[in-house]
Amino acid sequence: MAISVKKIDEKNNVSRFLVKGVSPAFINAIRRSVMLHVPCLAIENVSIYENDTVMFDEFLAHRLGMLPVKTDLKGYKRGDKVKMVLEKEGPCVVYSKDIKSTDPKIEIMDKNIPLVKLAKGQRIKIEMDAVMESGREHSKWQPGVVSFQEMPAISVEGCNLCGECAKACPKGILEIKAKKVVLSQPFECILCGACRDACEKEALCIEPDKNAFILAIEPIAGLTAKEIMESALNEMLEKSEQLQKALQKID
Ligand code: SF4
Ligand code: SF4
Repeated sequence: MAISVKKIDEKNNVSRFLVKGVSPAFINAIRRSVMLHVPCLAIENVSIYENDTVMFDEFLAHRLGMLPVKTDLKGYKRGDKVKMVLEKEGPCVVYSKDIKSTDPKIEIMDKNIPLVKLAKGQRIKIEMDAVMESGREHSKWQPGVVSFQEMPAISVEGCNLCGECAKACPKGILEIKAKKVVLSQPFECILCGACRDACEKEALCIEPDKNAFILAIEPIAGLTAKEIMESALNEMLEKSEQLQKALQKID
């Protein structure tokens, strides 16, 4: 079966793709590759020179480490660093927007994340590196949240058009149209089986299609969902080539 991919939609920063012609293991390998191998920037190597606040240095460093940093895959490779500085004096609330980067293209994605509150006269002075790494080191280097679900495959035989299946569907996506049971929005089906269970005639069968999947990607480090998928596939390709070369050395 030929492999194909089509963008379904993009809502609330989540892009969904219909991927056909692949096995469950292959689609899961893409998911794992995104989680473990696609690099992005995150804050690491925090040097705290001044911290008069009630927050321990370790807590502050942890908060900084979890900030989403805008990533440029073309300009940076694994191990590259961007220096950043945070210096403020109270009274004020310190936000993520107060962190200054030495590269104008690289910045904190969300500017309004509160970091710490400074009372009058309290100061913080911190230097840090945004480092390019991937999720195999720590989950803070995951470029997005990725998941997949199977597409539904529906078949109907011996139906009397009673409509009970449509009434039972919690998503309201089954209809009786032109004397047929129609799954009007297959991408919204959660494969709960309520329609099948409601059919007394046992005329309806709905099951997961083992070769078609909805892949959902929510980017969190400034990359697009397409860039994340491309990078995941490149990582898989690179590793396959390395394995192939290593195999050639075996008699
Ligand atoms: S499996 Fe569940 S969500 Fe999908 S069509 Fe049937 S009742 Fe609706
Ligand atoms: S419940 Fe069964 S018989 Fe009734 S419309 Fe649905 S598939 Fe047809």
